[in-house]
Amino acid sequence: MARQRPSIVAGDGVLCDLTQRLVQSAADVHCLVPPGEDPHNLRLTPQQKRQLGQAQVVLINGYNLTPSLQGLAGSKAVAELAVPDSPKLGAQSADPHIWHDPAQSRALVRWLHRDLGALLPAEARAMDGRAKAMESVLADLDTWNRHQLATIPGKAAGQKPVLASSHRAFISLARAYGLQELALLDGSSGSHVLRPEGLDATLKQLRRLGVRQLFSEEIPPPKALLRLSALSGIPIAPAALVADGLAPGQPSLPATAIANTCLISEGLGGRCDRESGQALQTRWQAIR
Ligand SMILES: [Zn+2]
Repeated sequence: MARQRPSIVAGDGVLCDLTQRLVQSAADVHCLVPPGEDPHNLRLTPQQKRQLGQAQVVLINGYNLTPSLQGLAGSKAVAELAVPDSPKLGAQSADPHIWHDPAQSRALVRWLHRDLGALLPAEARAMDGRAKAMESVLADLDTWNRHQLATIPGKAAGQKPVLASSHRAFISLARAYGLQELALLDGSSGSHVLRPEGLDATLKQLRRLGVRQLFSEEIPPPKALLRLSALSGIPIAPAALVADGLAPGQPSLPATAIANTCLISEGLGGRCDRESGQALQTRWQAIR
């Protein structure tokens, strides 16, 4: 009888794509948050609880991205372990959405490679090659992001274009590429409520900062964002920015990142070279 393959749960964020890409068919990888779903409000189903109980390894993002997974016995909070210096959101918490900076995603790959290498010794050589290829695509994604976002007017002169989105999910992206992040709705989660400072303060801030586009994390946008757009006269980007994991229909980290970067760059008056972005996605998909 064939030996059973190890079972890995890759909980949330982008871990599903990174883990599957790295181990391929050497293990069964169960993903708990499908592309497009909100990890902040995940409720575990009985089947998911069973998968968690049976897994040899449980990988979660950590930094409280998914409160229902945080602190599960035996789980490994990969983002906390691989990126211990994630930007602070306040006195108590740090940004969980660390993968929006490809340099931090490379740290996730390195950590997974080391940890899962111990679980799958027979797969070591193949995983060495895949990890190297993944890091190479992510390094090139970093350069590609930089080139696209550099075309935003004013950026070359040292200005920080404002990335106004629903919740505080882009602090790592903003830090990596010299943007100014601004959360319009409730800060830390996928909530749809306006920030406690209130409507007038937010409208004043949008005017003062000369914000050119608002970014919704879902289409149709939540009512509070539509209201801000109507009152400020600032349009909402035509597609959703994917903050919390993988984009629906494009379940890979580079595909999601490239779609986000194009939306931001073009929404703020810059350009986006989709052809070279597509080449990066193709390289990622070809990692076997
Ligand atoms: Zn989030």
